[in-house]
Amino acid sequence: MKGQIYLKNVVTLELDIDKCIGCGLCATVCPHRVFEMKEKKAAIVDMDACMECGACGLNCPVEAINVKSGVGCATAVLKGMFGGDEVCCDCSCESD
Ligand code: SF4
Ligand code: SF4
Repeated sequence: MKGQIYLKNVVTLELDIDKCIGCGLCATVCPHRVFEMKEKKAAIVDMDACMECGACGLNCPVEAINVKSGVGCATAVLKGMFGGDEVCCDCSCESD
């Protein structure tokens, strides 16, 4: 899904750089490469690519990341994938 861009400036992702201990887990788990490590700290390099899946926040050992997961497209797509329904969040698919 890399290369897909979501609505700009609506992502809830926040990073508290003072809490970051530089473990790199957020950069490892993020499916959209939103994070990079810079000078032993995490940095958000592509905010608008975030789909708010919540993986970075769940894996951060010091709670330096805050993101409202379980809303919007990510949830709908995941429910579709694992629930056997159509993989669609209704914002870009048309039912006919
Ligand atoms: S919420 Fe998901 S997509 Fe967004 S930065 Fe975290 S791991 Fe990446
Ligand atoms: S997971 Fe948390 S502590 Fe580790 S690099 Fe990312 S923000 Fe920093």
